[in-house]
Amino acid sequence: MRPVGRSDQLVVECSGVTRRYVIGGRGSAGSGSEVLALQDVDLEVPAGLLLALAGPSGSGKSTLLALLGALDRPTSGALRVDGVDVATLGRRERRAFRRRRAVSMLPLPADNLLLDLTGRENVVAAGHHRGLLGDVRSRADELLAEMELDAFADRPCALMSGGEQQRIALAASLIGSSAVVLADEPTGALDRAGAATVAAALRGAVERGASIVVATHDPNIEAVADMVVRLDHGRRVL
Ligand code: ADP
Ligand code: MG
Repeated sequence: MRPVGRSDQLVVECSGVTRRYVIGGRGSAGSGSEVLALQDVDLEVPAGLLLALAGPSGSGKSTLLALLGALDRPTSGALRVDGVDVATLGRRERRAFRRRRAVSMLPLPADNLLLDLTGRENVVAAGHHRGLLGDVRSRADELLAEMELDAFADRPCALMSGGEQQRIALAASLIGSSAVVLADEPTGALDRAGAATVAAALRGAVERGASIVVATHDPNIEAVADMVVRLDHGRRVL
């Protein structure tokens, strides 16, 4: 059950967010070319929702996820994640923010997984990385059971399908109560059945109280999202 009152909170608040990349021309003023990867984007994401970030390749989805994950900073505009003004944090503070506030990225492919380790070991490792105290192993087993991944607890990730690996990666990103889980095309490399199980797992995590922003082309995920936001050439068009 979704914790009461969470839906009043905003996990993301973007106002006029712009990210401009300058390519080449380093050191010689004005000679570089510019890419406006994001232009004046406003976005509010309430807690406890699954938001699909749609749009064609090159529209700015990964750029926006990197800003939400405090991996990068906007060129201009205001950006709060879990109530923290991440646009003004320095590199070190952003690293601390990512770790402490457990804003997590679910990568594609599940390349944060340690493939020689089992499903459980990966989830436990993520808990330790976040500084989780107490019985991390029991918490990991609870999560794996909730996500119907019990059968994979003792199996090395190298011996799982892509969809199973993505679901273990999702479990790893949920341990330690992430403020928001950010996923960049988590079903992009999967077959249809794998994509459907990952979409169902994302939906299940949200039903249990997680907040998730997922960049995707996948109609499976758009179908289970609470909200769809579309980007085109760096602008929000929906
Ligand atoms: P999407 O994830 O929707 O495919 P991206 O956010 O990766 O789009 O890219 C948006 C735009 O910004 C594209 O035009 C891309 O070429 C450009 N871009 C992305 N990252 C960089 C970078 N590090 N330097 C320069 N341009 C970039
Ligand atoms: Mg991308």
